[in-house]
Amino acid sequence: MRLTLIGTGYVGLVAGAGFAEFGNDVICVDIDAQRIESLQAGRVPIYEPGLEDLVQRNVANGRLTFSTDTLTSVAGAEVIFIAVGTPSGEDGSADLSHVLAATKTIARGITGPCVVATKSTVPIGTGDKIEAVLREHCRHAVAVVSNPEFLKEGDALSDFMKPARIIIGCNDDGATETLQRLYAPFVRTNNRVMVMDRHSAEMTKYAANAMLATRISFMNELSHLASAVGADIEAVRRGLGSDPRIGNKFLFAGAGYGGSCFPKDVRALLSSAGKHEVPLEIVAAAQRANERQKEAIPRLVQQSLGESLTGKRIAIWGLAFKPHTDDVRESAAIFAARMLIDFGATVVVYDPQAMDTARSELGSKVEYARDMYEAATSADALILATEWPCFRRPDFKRIKDMMRGSRLFDGRNIWDPADLHRLGFQYFGIGRRNPS
Ligand code: NAD
Repeated sequence: MRLTLIGTGYVGLVAGAGFAEFGNDVICVDIDAQRIESLQAGRVPIYEPGLEDLVQRNVANGRLTFSTDTLTSVAGAEVIFIAVGTPSGEDGSADLSHVLAATKTIARGITGPCVVATKSTVPIGTGDKIEAVLREHCRHAVAVVSNPEFLKEGDALSDFMKPARIIIGCNDDGATETLQRLYAPFVRTNNRVMVMDRHSAEMTKYAANAMLATRISFMNELSHLASAVGADIEAVRRGLGSDPRIGNKFLFAGAGYGGSCFPKDVRALLSSAGKHEVPLEIVAAAQRANERQKEAIPRLVQQSLGESLTGKRIAIWGLAFKPHTDDVRESAAIFAARMLIDFGATVVVYDPQAMDTARSELGSKVEYARDMYEAATSADALILATEWPCFRRPDFKRIKDMMRGSRLFDGRNIWDPADLHRLGFQYFGIGRRNPS
């Protein structure tokens, strides 16, 4: 099929390259000229494992091209996907300005009947707004479909190529059939295409993210109780997760959830609920618990090293909001760095992929180390903020010799407290039981 993706970020680029891989002709459009220039020159501007190869392969075989010109790029497309950002507005609601601006331009460029499918995460009812804009500015028959995207950064390629499910929210049989045909190769093995009305599809995406955020906040709250009563949250997690009714995913206590989706989508869902005067108390509590949780590690550091951290050197390993991405949007690590700076500390940071993106958030307020060991050198405390594989089994003996202090703060509960205790470290985890 001839496809156009509007917005070439994490979602648009992965989806565009993924569709091209299955033989479609794809144009990825973005208003960020630098991003498009870089892609046209063969450079992928974001880090996502495997993405560069996938993009380069499909560019080379002529199925994937890039453009800044929406008008000409949508002409002749059978399906146009909207994959632009929907950041939080000032009141927490989703800011739809990019979606609506893109829709207006699309409307002027459409040259015949086609499908416009929304991959961006948008509040319930946004499809109706898109439809109204198209009706006003376009004379062709256009079906508007909600096709929410569920990929996870860090695993985006496999999530996109082998999705757990594809949701098609639409009441137009022709458009449903077009999308079913497009997705058929992606769901060969599980055949999980779900067709539903557009409002339900839009809501499903928010429900999924709010549920996952709630599971994380639930475990984070329990971690504080575990500390208070002398239990180990990791043992509790294993016991709990072995119940098939509960499942073992998204039960990890940690430094708080972040990223480009959970915080903003929880805010947007609460905002929508507020507008409809429907209280979502569980979701609101999950959000509050997360705000508190992001302070957990900096507060632990402060309790351990003193109210003022002036003169203290704190190393942070990991800046991305999760491993295998360079995305630092609403990252708990960035939040912790800022808080420690406010407490007076000198903060030195290292991340295998997110140094450049972190620089735009932290500027010259922190020191940037060339590697993980350099970061730990002369540190009074070391914080593990993102569980990249390279941080899982470092040379702790070397670290012990390099650090000035001996405090390790494990914000993702990946280290063994007993091992570290034996090596002479003071270990602080999230709800972990310390060896006595
Ligand atoms: P992103 O910020 O990485 O990319 C969005 C891109 O859209 C940017 O490059 C921006 O320049 C471009 N853009 C903005 N307005 C435009 C316009 N009028 N025309 C063309 N391009 C335009 O965002 P993302 O992470 O890819 O997320 C996109 C959407 O998908 C959001 O709604 C997000 O909530 C949702 N989503 C994201 C993920 C994820 O893991 N990142 C997963 C599922 C869903």
